[in-house]
Amino acid sequence: MTSETTTSRSSLPGSILIIYAGGTIGMQESPRGLAPATSFGPRLEAALSALPPDRLARLPAYSLWESPRPIDSSSATPGDWSALAGLIAERYDDHAGFVVLHGTDTLAWCASSLAFQLQGLTKPVVVTGAQKPLGIMGGDALDNLEAALAFAAQPMLREVGLSFGGRLMRGCRARKWYTHDAAGFESPNWPLLGEMVDHVPVLYSARGWVSQGAPRFELLQPHRPAAVLRLALWPGMRADLIERWLDDDDVRGLVLECWGSGNLPEDEALIGVLAGAAAAGKILVAVSQCPVGGIEPGTYANGQALNEIGVLSADDMTVEAACCKLTHLISQGLSHDELRRRFLMSLVGERGAFTP
Ligand code: ASP
Repeated sequence: MTSETTTSRSSLPGSILIIYAGGTIGMQESPRGLAPATSFGPRLEAALSALPPDRLARLPAYSLWESPRPIDSSSATPGDWSALAGLIAERYDDHAGFVVLHGTDTLAWCASSLAFQLQGLTKPVVVTGAQKPLGIMGGDALDNLEAALAFAAQPMLREVGLSFGGRLMRGCRARKWYTHDAAGFESPNWPLLGEMVDHVPVLYSARGWVSQGAPRFELLQPHRPAAVLRLALWPGMRADLIERWLDDDDVRGLVLECWGSGNLPEDEALIGVLAGAAAAGKILVAVSQCPVGGIEPGTYANGQALNEIGVLSADDMTVEAACCKLTHLISQGLSHDELRRRFLMSLVGERGAFTP
């Protein structure tokens, strides 16, 4: 992703920077189906100017940065998230907030990675996309764009939010839930941060992340992506196959999607493979395959093996957040102990139950 700026509506300091990275929201039909498209600016202008006058008048001033190579987010990599975070960091002082337009397929991954890279935010970063391209009659793109701009103009929002279907979620808590429905996403373990009510943003500030200290941007190193594997348990899985995967020296971490509250098969071979990987210095973390609720390894005798091996509990984190956090921490070159300590902490509100 290289830098290329076009401005529209306003380039005043204090405006919102819209970053167009790709996704259905900006796609156009091609002979092979929907495909990423450039020249998003005029389409954005035309769509927003068709809003009813009262809603148009409430929009904050914005500038647009368009990627010269917008992507279908199914192709996104940590390098793309690093470039996005770098762009926000570079422009941080020039804008009151940021909106990232991105595909929905990996939007929760992008939001999670941005949250870990842009710690200590003092202004909003709101990611959004759409199930239908901008300009399609009855589609969700215009409403999502309007909502994202409205939330990005709320100075009390000081974290990475994911706005979709009129609902604002903590980015590192959200998951794509629906393939077609305009609701798009859910935040199973953290309540909504805000909602659009009659096209006006309402923030539930008590649920927002309160960061300590000044912005601490820790960008991912795109040239050295940490090799983190994601492995979901399935009945009948063969330990010898998993062993070949984990044996690679490049592999630095594993996110294991366990059963229910943190359970795994009573399979000595599999437990031995995991223990071997941990002994070799790889960081193993466990999440649940259930989207709602956290894990407590050791509730069942079978799950006790996770504690014995030293697998870290990801509590109620989404698998997207767990993978991004592990990738992020490994890329920071921390000591083994410091990395384990930070994984178990809530860095940006990514783990831990909500207590009203
Ligand atoms: N494949 C698209 C993407 O993630 C889906 C979408 O944006 O809704 O870029």
